[in-house]
Amino acid sequence: MKNLLYMPGEEVWTNVLEALKLRVNRQAFETWLLPTRLESFTDGVVKVAVPNPFFADWLQHHYLSEILFALKEVTGRELQVEFVLPENRGKPAQALVETSPPPVAQTQFRLRSRYTFDSFIVGEGNRFAWAAARSVAQNLGKTYNPLFIYGGVGLGKTHLLQAIGNFALGLYPGLRLCYTAAEALFLELIQAIGKNTRLEFKDKYRGLDLLLLDDVHYLVGKESLQEEIFFTFNALQDAGSQVIFTSDRPPKDIPTLQERLISRLGSGLVVDIQPPDLETRVAILLQKAKLEGFNLTEEIALHIATRVRSNIRTLEASLVRLIAIHSLTGKPVSRELAEQALKDLVHPEQPIDGNRVIATVAEHFQVPVQELKGQLRTKRVALARQVAMFLMRNILSLSLKDIGYYFGGKDHTTVMHAIEKVSGLQDEDPGFANTLETLTRQLQQSNS
Ligand code: ADP
Ligand code: MG
Repeated sequence: MKNLLYMPGEEVWTNVLEALKLRVNRQAFETWLLPTRLESFTDGVVKVAVPNPFFADWLQHHYLSEILFALKEVTGRELQVEFVLPENRGKPAQALVETSPPPVAQTQFRLRSRYTFDSFIVGEGNRFAWAAARSVAQNLGKTYNPLFIYGGVGLGKTHLLQAIGNFALGLYPGLRLCYTAAEALFLELIQAIGKNTRLEFKDKYRGLDLLLLDDVHYLVGKESLQEEIFFTFNALQDAGSQVIFTSDRPPKDIPTLQERLISRLGSGLVVDIQPPDLETRVAILLQKAKLEGFNLTEEIALHIATRVRSNIRTLEASLVRLIAIHSLTGKPVSRELAEQALKDLVHPEQPIDGNRVIATVAEHFQVPVQELKGQLRTKRVALARQVAMFLMRNILSLSLKDIGYYFGGKDHTTVMHAIEKVSGLQDEDPGFANTLETLTRQLQQSNS
């Protein structure tokens, strides 16, 4: 270790950079560390000039401990570091930036501007995923890494993923990020192999600060891509970069996915998005209508939202159709017109009603429908009846009185008691909660 007294500040920093070069990966070093230089070194404080405030922020959050460690190694002292914008003397740090690799071209971000957090309606089903996405976007690489978001088709995975990108880019304009669907990545890899440009491919993805990889269930059976992603992911994680995945199912349920990749994908936070409840669906329709400058009443929104239950893309498509039919025919916006718009989008069957819930529950509990609707009080029948009431309330949002009507005019307090009892069981018994979830899904799927 050299003695600090005989080492000029410039040399200290050069040595620190040398030490860091061995510790962080090449791409990260060239991007974040090489463009820095020593501004001043007095009273145990090392001021490091950086090209812009974004650099300061990034270094502070991602490389501070490495830098302090290297400084101690070089000088033998505990020092403080401050990242500052350069004074006007000497070679401007900006000039050095140009020697670092150019950032990924804007066009390669592949982000759509309408997918933002602002345009994302939060409800029960997506609240957790939304909160995780917000947190990650605000603290890249520091909270949940990787973040894995999964959920059914059309529930907002791509929207959330891109919202993270848009948000982070607003926060850090120089960010190197890439949004890509696993399928596009696969094609790119195949091309790279064909054109012998696999190294460039590797470099491009391994030098990112933020990788947004959509629809990773596509990796099924694509061994070469799995391999590539595994190593890319490791490199990104070593560099402190943030990675976010989406999929239609959790990592462990993606068949033929290599074990080590499964454990990698699931090593951060895994969150799911559940289908939106009625209130959220109405809110989404109203927001979308407002964006389109279309006057949608709550009544019609409610009607459409009752018919389209689980896919937000279909929900939006219904509205687009309604607007088109309305403007083409000039007919007033009514329930009938809404039905016309919904015609090929949702099941021609009747929407689920109370009887359908009763039939489904009766079948599940192996109880005849007539007994379920009747007065019998054996334990099994009573429980099935209570579950049916609970589901009618939760899925159909029926009033207590309307629910009672299905069961021979039972009093609303009886219905209330049943719902409370089932809610209690749901909290206490995970197996029972599972049964409720399965029944709910079964009913919802048959409807949209
Ligand atoms: P996925 O990727 O899960 O299949 P998308 O993210 O493509 O679904 O969402 C489908 C459509 O629904 C998009 O147009 C998206 O903007 C919209 N969408 C989904 N969730 C929401 C939400 N919570 N609020 C507003 N729009 C949403
Ligand atoms: Mg998607």
